Amino acid sequence: MTLSMLGHRDDVGLKDGLLLIGGQWRASGDGATWTHKHPATHEEIGSFPIATAEDVDAAVQAARQAFDEGPWPRATVSARVRVLHKFSALLREHNDDLLSRLALDNGVPKTFGNIYAASVGVAADVFDHHAGWIDKAGGETFPGYQGGDKLAVTFREPIGVVAAILPWNAPFLLFAQKLGPALAAGCTVVLKPSEYASFSVLRMVELLEEAGLPEGVVNVVTGPGDPTGEALITHPLVDKISFTGSRAVGKRIVEASAGTLKRVSMELGGKSPAIVFPEAEVALAAATAMGMVTMGLSGQACIAQSRALVHRDVYDEFITVAQGVAGYMSYGDPFEPSVLASPLINERQLGRVLGYIQKGLEEGARLVQGGNRLDGDYSNGNFVAPAIFADVDNKMTIAQEEIFGPVLAVVPFSDEDEAIRLANDTEYGLGAGVYTKDVRQAFRVAKRLRAGSIGINGFQVEPHLPFGGYRQSGIGREGGRSAYEAYTELKSVMMPLTEEMM
Ligand code: NAD
Repeated sequence: MTLSMLGHRDDVGLKDGLLLIGGQWRASGDGATWTHKHPATHEEIGSFPIATAEDVDAAVQAARQAFDEGPWPRATVSARVRVLHKFSALLREHNDDLLSRLALDNGVPKTFGNIYAASVGVAADVFDHHAGWIDKAGGETFPGYQGGDKLAVTFREPIGVVAAILPWNAPFLLFAQKLGPALAAGCTVVLKPSEYASFSVLRMVELLEEAGLPEGVVNVVTGPGDPTGEALITHPLVDKISFTGSRAVGKRIVEASAGTLKRVSMELGGKSPAIVFPEAEVALAAATAMGMVTMGLSGQACIAQSRALVHRDVYDEFITVAQGVAGYMSYGDPFEPSVLASPLINERQLGRVLGYIQKGLEEGARLVQGGNRLDGDYSNGNFVAPAIFADVDNKMTIAQEEIFGPVLAVVPFSDEDEAIRLANDTEYGLGAGVYTKDVRQAFRVAKRLRAGSIGINGFQVEPHLPFGGYRQSGIGREGGRSAYEAYTELKSVMMPLTEEMM
């Protein structure tokens, strides 16, 4: 049977999207639109405006006015907490509808969407977590350093207008990781969803309005990097850019932000290792690493452990289990409960992934299975059978570059020092997995890895734990108190308490 998404689209009642500027939903100034094609079928699902530079300017001006004159930055703690908790409750209430919209956006199976890491529930928890900082993350009081009696205090104040730019792969979580702390701190926002996942984000914004957020506090500009994203990152009235996406666009944003010295937070790509010691539960390690490059997003996940470093003693066993996991994946209609993995997001990404597989072969890695485009019922979509490469040298392209697809590169090692050296031999540093039953070894290795999030015998993004990258995987952290603080400026105020101090 030929796969089609059009029936699901009609069941969901999906309407074409609009921009949200200063509380008004409207089309773009020049009427231009982006037509979204579903990655599983290439059918046209719907459209939304491509915001022009003038639209982006209007959105930034609205956010600026809401920040400089509006009620949100000056709201009481209880008023802000109430809106954020109401929003998280609305998210949970609309879970199924949001998952359907996500499936129509990026083809992520609804079954996977219900798993915590990618779920609406994790987004709701992130908002609840940040609502909890509003009455706690204040300034400090200091004694005078020299001289007579003094009072010195610090205030934490909202940073201003935030440009929040999202990727397409995990919009629920990343919307929350940015807007949760930004709104909790009292900032106003211009949000740019990815052009490949706008419908689910637009629905979340409607729910924010329903939760009672004042007009102009969150504005939405849809459209691609050029012209929409460029107009946003170069706008002089934006105080901070919070970006999640590819390293290449991250570098462009750092460059563009230099003009007005904007603050930047960057959550970028990775080439995270899964380090598997002979003492490990090898089946768990192989299922986790292979699961991360197949299950749900088909490896289109920043934190995927796509580079398995496996001790020679357990190498063959690891590959056998990984093969089994790859064979278990099921593809097709993301609304079907039995479907576990998604297509690649677009034809460009399909070409990139197939190109990396070819490169792996040319550089001498051994393709154990997969790596081909799926045909038959799947031939209209961007489906690729999970690829396992064995005998990979860590210097090969497939071990160094973020492929962002269903490809696992398996590199052998002989001892702990070699494993750590290989793990750190990368330009990235987002995450890593350590697989061993030896507790001292697990922490010894975790301490020596140059990466922001380490999972020992498993990994999960937690709303209250800092998440982010070393080196070219990013700047700053999301999650936890430091994320909240990243949306604030710190002001010092001091006063002599006696006349002779003057
Ligand atoms: P991308 O960089 O292509 O796009 C991300 C966003 O940037 C989109 O909204 C896009 O429209 C916008 N954009 C593109 N060019 C722009 C420009 N010149 N100016 C302003 N905005 C611009 O990334 P993607 O394909 O959507 O997502 C995949 C990447 O995201 C991968 O590298 C992945 O590792 C990374 N990612 C990182 C994390 C993390 O937390 N570290 C999480 C998810 C995804």
